[in-house]
Amino acid sequence: MTGQQLPLRFGGGRYDRRPPVTRLSFDPATLSRPLADLERVTPRVARRLTAFGLTTVGDLIEHFPRRYEDFRDRKAIRDLKLGEEATIRGEVVRVRAERTARRRVDIVKVLVRDDTGAVEAVWFNQKYLTRVLDEGMRLSLRGTFRPQSGRQQFVVKGHEILGEEDGEGVHTEGVVPVYPASEQVSAKLLRALVHELAPVMRRLPDPLPAGLLTRERLPGRADAVTAVHLPRTLAEARLARERLVLEELLLMQVGLLLHKQEQQQRVRAPALPEPAALAQAFLDGLPFELTSHQLAALDEIEADLRRDVPMRRLLQGDVGSGKTVVALYCLLRTAEAGLQGVLLAPTETLAAQHAETVARLVGPLAPAELVTAALTARERREALARLASGETRIVVGTHALLTGDVRFAALGLLVVDEQHRFGVEQRDALVRRAEHDGLAPHVLHMTATPIPRTLALTVFGDLDVTTIAGVPSGRQPVVTRLVDEEMRETGYEFVRKQIAKGRQVYVVCPAIDESESIQAATAVAEAERLQAGPFREARVAVVHGQLKPADRDEVMRAFKSGELDVLVATSLIEVGIDVPNATVMIVEGAERFGLAQLHQLRGRVGRGSEKSYCLLFAAAETGAARARLEALLETTDGFELADKDLEIRGEGQVMGSRQAGVPDLKLARLARDRAALLRARALAAGILEADPGLRSPVHGPLDAAVRDAFGGELGWLLKA
Ligand code: ADP
Ligand code: MG
Repeated sequence: MTGQQLPLRFGGGRYDRRPPVTRLSFDPATLSRPLADLERVTPRVARRLTAFGLTTVGDLIEHFPRRYEDFRDRKAIRDLKLGEEATIRGEVVRVRAERTARRRVDIVKVLVRDDTGAVEAVWFNQKYLTRVLDEGMRLSLRGTFRPQSGRQQFVVKGHEILGEEDGEGVHTEGVVPVYPASEQVSAKLLRALVHELAPVMRRLPDPLPAGLLTRERLPGRADAVTAVHLPRTLAEARLARERLVLEELLLMQVGLLLHKQEQQQRVRAPALPEPAALAQAFLDGLPFELTSHQLAALDEIEADLRRDVPMRRLLQGDVGSGKTVVALYCLLRTAEAGLQGVLLAPTETLAAQHAETVARLVGPLAPAELVTAALTARERREALARLASGETRIVVGTHALLTGDVRFAALGLLVVDEQHRFGVEQRDALVRRAEHDGLAPHVLHMTATPIPRTLALTVFGDLDVTTIAGVPSGRQPVVTRLVDEEMRETGYEFVRKQIAKGRQVYVVCPAIDESESIQAATAVAEAERLQAGPFREARVAVVHGQLKPADRDEVMRAFKSGELDVLVATSLIEVGIDVPNATVMIVEGAERFGLAQLHQLRGRVGRGSEKSYCLLFAAAETGAARARLEALLETTDGFELADKDLEIRGEGQVMGSRQAGVPDLKLARLARDRAALLRARALAAGILEADPGLRSPVHGPLDAAVRDAFGGELGWLLKA
């Protein structure tokens, strides 16, 4: 298909036994009609569109332009200036083709005339045009006027054949949308199809209530969708996009808040009584003063625990900010009230470490149980029996606690550390299983992956968020250095001096995309190389995911107690490990890690009072990798880095929102649409406050649109 006729003819498909799409008054089913029903879509084109991800009319309408080209600078032929790009309109006087002798290029030359003059328009290697273009045709041409083989010609970049009427061209005139396209599905094809759908777009129903549109001065959906695809001006396109972005974010926020309402209203949670002796003894016994942020977090959580509305809170704080103490306090509060508390950790190592901390700080006050895959069948049976009877008040564990055979006598609190490591469904299943007498446990999620507020509002939009800013004072920021290959020896020399001072060292190996066994092999080889070479004098050991849990625990214990100097590890070390005497982190192949992960790794050091170092051994740096590494050199503030990460990568990759049960964003970009997100959040809260559960008929379309947005595979999130 080359140019096309204007005006476009709507409907009347060749393959169509049903009424043509565009002649229907609006029927929601229109959106699910296959694109093959459109006139210009042959079965072959339909197959290409499907392969490209566009199957239905609705898919195409939601395939929004990436940007626009402003072709409004139409010129009379006489006014063309050399070297300038412009659009002209004219009539075909003559068509001919030539082939250059030397380089064998086909050149189509068309003499085009308007009221002011004539110019020769040229195309390269598009010989088929001689069959398409004919004397007397009216053309619109986008191109550049320039000297070419000694003559002045108009080198064509885009063209279209105009019809009888005076409408604007679709591809070469006015504001032209540029769609994400492919080799098989050109932007031109998409534009032509979208034009055909204009009458459908103009009748699209609006999920947002009319009152809201008026109050917020928003254009209706039909107008906005039309203007995004077929804008007359760039300003119009921008306004339309704003409205659609707001709508998208609003549907998401309403969905998340509905979910939260549903969760919090369906069941009650045990309201804990005032803190008593145990909680006080715990706080008094801490070897340090809590920071003001920790205290503030405790206050917020304490208030939640005293209510009978189930707590659904996210506690986020940078690595080393001291979240664990807060969690322990809550567990103890729960135990003290005669209920049970679970601390869930993503790895065995971390669970073991938590269990140890519990034993040290809480142990004398309330005995705790550790449940991981490392237990023997018999140990497990006995441990589960103590949980079911209520004898165990505090339990620390891994995924081993998430299986169906785990029962609690009276679960009051679930704390999920590094929550993004667990599937939402897994967590919810545990919560549901633990419900008893209509009471659900309080849930506290923790994450050391600092999440920009915008992302927290989307991915965790159904949670309240508490942030522990900063890290306990007395810590010095970690000194971070990029070490390239020539500096490697100097780097090792520096590290040897640290070891001589009694400090300990982590070495993290890359191969992050590899299988566990390859990662393990890489780490083992690296440990051998270091032991044989640079760290000959030191005590080197290795941990990786393939070790038996008991062996891994033994290595970790030895490292913690200072029996080892250098710990070589796969990236599993990233999560939560706490060894204050470790002051050097070496990351091999740093360019292969993501920003958040590097920040986590760096967070493993700088936990004591000694100065700490992070050496990023990086090979040739490409653009994005370089940007990541430089961001790390600039700041140690996880929240700043998270914002950077969002900028560099976009939200889709940052958190894996799909896993979190939130629909993908089609149009909105969190890094850019922050203001819109906050507005959507506020509007959503207002709507649900006025009409909890969206029961009012005015909100029928909104309710349907929200459920649709969260539908399909994520339907469980909103199940009634
Ligand atoms: P994270 O938030 O990364 O889980 P942790 O809870 O593991 O951090 O705390 C990191 C280290 O800081 C631990 O050794 C912990 O005992 C210590 N810590 C926690 N709170 C304080 C504080 N207020 N003052 C000094 N050290 C603290
Ligand atoms: Mg932690």
